[in-house]
Amino acid sequence: MDTEKIKRYMYKNQRIFGMVQKIKLWPSRSGVLHGVKQVERQGNMIKITTHCNESFVIWDSKSSRSARWLRNRWFKKPCPRCQIPEWKLQKYSATVFTGDAQKL
Ligand SMILES: [Zn+2]
Repeated sequence: MDTEKIKRYMYKNQRIFGMVQKIKLWPSRSGVLHGVKQVERQGNMIKITTHCNESFVIWDSKSSRSARWLRNRWFKKPCPRCQIPEWKLQKYSATVFTGDAQKL
């Protein structure tokens, strides 16, 4: 299998809103990775609703804890209630966050 094919390239310096909209995954503060059902912009904040019906309102920044975790693809475990499909987790782990716009 050609792993290059499943790789996705995203801007490293992107704000959370753009990342979550594409990835549709959300690492909560406790390290649980949720599947995202809806993401809404509310001024400088974003409201994220997960498949297990939790919602988080967070600052749309580039440098917060959550932005860093998304880029580093860090989480402890996937949320059992969100039932994130395996292919989605694999796609997430193959995503490359790059500052090189030529690759996009
Ligand atoms: Zn969940």
